[in-house]
Amino acid sequence: MNSADTTATHSNADAQELAKFSELAHRWWDPNSEFRPLHQINPLRLAWIDELAPLRGKQALDVGCGGGILAEAMAAKAEHVTGIDLAARPLGVARLHALESGVANLEYREIATEALAEERPARYDVVTCMEMLEHVPDPSAIVAACARLVRPGGWVFFSTLNRNPKSFLFAIVGAEYVLRLLPRGTHEYARFIRPSELTRWCRESALSVQASRGMEYNPLTRRYWLSGDTSVNYLIACRRPAE
Ligand code: SAH
Repeated sequence: MNSADTTATHSNADAQELAKFSELAHRWWDPNSEFRPLHQINPLRLAWIDELAPLRGKQALDVGCGGGILAEAMAAKAEHVTGIDLAARPLGVARLHALESGVANLEYREIATEALAEERPARYDVVTCMEMLEHVPDPSAIVAACARLVRPGGWVFFSTLNRNPKSFLFAIVGAEYVLRLLPRGTHEYARFIRPSELTRWCRESALSVQASRGMEYNPLTRRYWLSGDTSVNYLIACRRPAE
């Protein structure tokens, strides 16, 4: 594993996790690679975000943007999008892809969420942080930083994996071993996050939870859809109260 090109010096980041994503980065935009699930869920999450917090004319931030699947899609609707990550290679791929797509209202930066929150408090109308909290040593600090980055009245969206026997079976045994949707070792069960934990961190950061959705997958049809079942993959939407 090569972590030389990742930023391992941030206290709230796991160098091995960043190295995993860097190693695979060149396949990020291949819809049939290990990133297929992210490509498939992207229209679903984008539609949900845009329904609750219409992106038109907005400043958006995507935290843990990776190769930029969501950031670039949001840029097609929003006024401007910033994508941040701590893995260098995925960011390089994201920048190249934006260049190829001719997307100009999109900026990528290698910076810790907490550091951007110091630099740009209350700057964004919409903050998204998808499939990232379960890879971070202290996810509650990321939630707190997102709460600082969003303006009063703005929206913050998180998605992650629930922690219970069913999610172990579906997200690890099913996705990594049986269906091989993801490489083995992509996820660590102990880092999964119950909705009750995530909503507590939101409350502690003065974000009020507005809505949540589950994300389900049918291995026979190979389709995803949003539902009310948050037992495995789920998303939550919260708001920073207006002042
Ligand atoms: N959010 C993107 C990518 C998810 S993959 C999407 O849903 O399409 C998880 C991403 O989180 C990887 O790009 C990884 O480098 C990033 N990541 C992991 N720990 C991080 C940290 N502490 N700070 C910022 N990004 C991090």
